[in-house]
Amino acid sequence: MKNILRNRLLTILILVLISSTTQAEDSSKIIIPDNIGVELKPVSFFAENDIEIIYPKDSQLVRAIDSTFILGNVKYPNVNQYIIINDVKVKVHEDGGFLAYLPVVSGMFTFLIEYNSFDFYYVQTRSHVYINKEDKKPGLKFRNFTVQIPEPLTPIPYDSLVIVKEINRPSGYLNLNSGDRIQVSFQGTPNCIATFSIQGIADSIAMAETSPCPQPYWGESVFGVGAVPDSLLLRGIYTGYYDIPLGVQADSIQLIYMLKYRPIDSLREHLLDSTGTSVLSMHKADERKDDTATMKSSYKLSINSNEFPFTVRFKDSVQTIRHGARKGYFSIFQPEGVEAFVTGSEGDWYIAELTKNHKAFINKHSVEKLPQGILPPHSYLTVIRTKGSDDNVKIEFPLSGKHPFKIIQEDKRTLKVQLFGVTTDTDWIRYDFSDKLIDIATWSQPSEKLYELKIKLTKDLWGYDSYYEGNTFYLKLNKAPSNVKKLKNKIIVIDPGHSSDKGSVGPTGYTEAEANLGISLELRKQLESKGATVLMTRDDNSNVDLYDRPSIAKAANADLFISMHNNALPDGVNPFTHNGSSTYYYHPHSINLAKNIQAELTKATKLSDYGLYHGNLAVNRPTQYPAVLIESAFMIIPEQEALLKTKKFRKKVAKGIVKGIENFLKEYEKSNRK
Ligand SMILES: [Zn+2]
Repeated sequence: MKNILRNRLLTILILVLISSTTQAEDSSKIIIPDNIGVELKPVSFFAENDIEIIYPKDSQLVRAIDSTFILGNVKYPNVNQYIIINDVKVKVHEDGGFLAYLPVVSGMFTFLIEYNSFDFYYVQTRSHVYINKEDKKPGLKFRNFTVQIPEPLTPIPYDSLVIVKEINRPSGYLNLNSGDRIQVSFQGTPNCIATFSIQGIADSIAMAETSPCPQPYWGESVFGVGAVPDSLLLRGIYTGYYDIPLGVQADSIQLIYMLKYRPIDSLREHLLDSTGTSVLSMHKADERKDDTATMKSSYKLSINSNEFPFTVRFKDSVQTIRHGARKGYFSIFQPEGVEAFVTGSEGDWYIAELTKNHKAFINKHSVEKLPQGILPPHSYLTVIRTKGSDDNVKIEFPLSGKHPFKIIQEDKRTLKVQLFGVTTDTDWIRYDFSDKLIDIATWSQPSEKLYELKIKLTKDLWGYDSYYEGNTFYLKLNKAPSNVKKLKNKIIVIDPGHSSDKGSVGPTGYTEAEANLGISLELRKQLESKGATVLMTRDDNSNVDLYDRPSIAKAANADLFISMHNNALPDGVNPFTHNGSSTYYYHPHSINLAKNIQAELTKATKLSDYGLYHGNLAVNRPTQYPAVLIESAFMIIPEQEALLKTKKFRKKVAKGIVKGIENFLKEYEKSNRK
């Protein structure tokens, strides 16, 4: 590192010498009249603000593996057609923006930026100001700043005997019961014997070393090429488990992990590692055969605690049930009053038993705890009715309490409703014969206390709503708006992403919030000219909370929802190979809108096709209407940032989106005509 720095300073010194000799030749004085009589004193201009780094910030933690991007702008693009960052020549766009993708190494990492600055002096006499043109020249300057690159999990040397850290540990204190499984994993010296003990319950439970496994990195796998470098393959990962038997009880205990060398005899079978080195000699097992490394679990646990089980009740209307602590959604939009039976916990999460086969995680802050002894409702479902109207058809499930539910959209015309804690007694399904949307509804009981109704539709689903009125659960299926093929009279909500949070920022400092608003205003104009009724979640820079945006659309009975954004990348992904226009949807009933918009958007922007995505984004989660989020271009690419500032490009993007919506409407009409 020191050597690199010294070489770099030498380079700078040489460059400075070269530039001062070449400049000296055309030196002359120019005279500016007026300005009388101040002191004779050289003044230096523009010393500080002639380069701005937009991202990353000084000292920031940058989650990259081996390379990352850096962007910013120079004040004098005419003299800085390129700058140098860490010995790499970086092109400067004509408006001053630059973007580079550079190698980094883990730990504290320094970017050294070399650029030109206008430094000149002027001398004032009583009657004249002399600008010393000799000095009015680009002078080479440099700026450095340091970021932090996280250390990857590194292989442990064979001659150590260490447990480095737990892998996939629980998110906090655990409350478990008989029948639950405790799963453990840690990283330590490879090729040893690992065990774990549970204080007072079980000793020396065997663990096994897994085959070398890759470290996942979501940024690269979703937005990049999806590959993991070989250097990140991990060795020395040990895993184990323990199924809690009946009759044990423990309070606030810890696990103890242990790692020992293999006995010398068995080591002979493991003589070589993949590099061909003798593991036997590296382990020095004969000298250190009695050594043991131990570590306590970072979390505590209780088993069969008297505090459990109990019933909880949801406090608010948009709560979620998940598959694990902070993991994927099991079901969204659980209304206030829904009750569930809690048998254990992990950190901030209750573990609920929805049926014997369905465990689900509920955030502790989203529910209130009911006194022990109260069970959640158990209902028998006897009659189901459907009730049609002009713009929707409701399916009515009369129950004796508020049950957790899950709605699964299997395809464009099939929905499944799951009600937990409900047992069938369904002798009747009464159809509203005037309704033509529902083809057939069939019920089943796939497991104890899980009731399922499958609904087949005659047309593609437009959207739906699910809610309780008293103890009656409703699934309301929204019909497509009338005269669906035309934009006229469609209620379209446009959501210019971000506001007081500026979103991503381009190299010259142009914010995504401004770019999104610019395109959205143009989109409104074009949609209104075709007769659509447009509502905006914001039409200026005033702040709108993320979660208020879908509420605005729901309150307006939106037919369609378009959220307008412009893109950036997670740390570490190469922006030169991964950029362009992209569209995102969440529910299956939104995919056709997304596909049609993406097709026309890429034609309009002429940028590369950055893809169609299913993305779990808050503005796309509402179920009532087709909703998409559009990332028309990349803020962080100098050329695309420059385009976004122009009215011409905004008009093009808006035109592409309008065409995409029109194609979607026509396609819907065509495939649902009868
Ligand atoms: Zn955004």
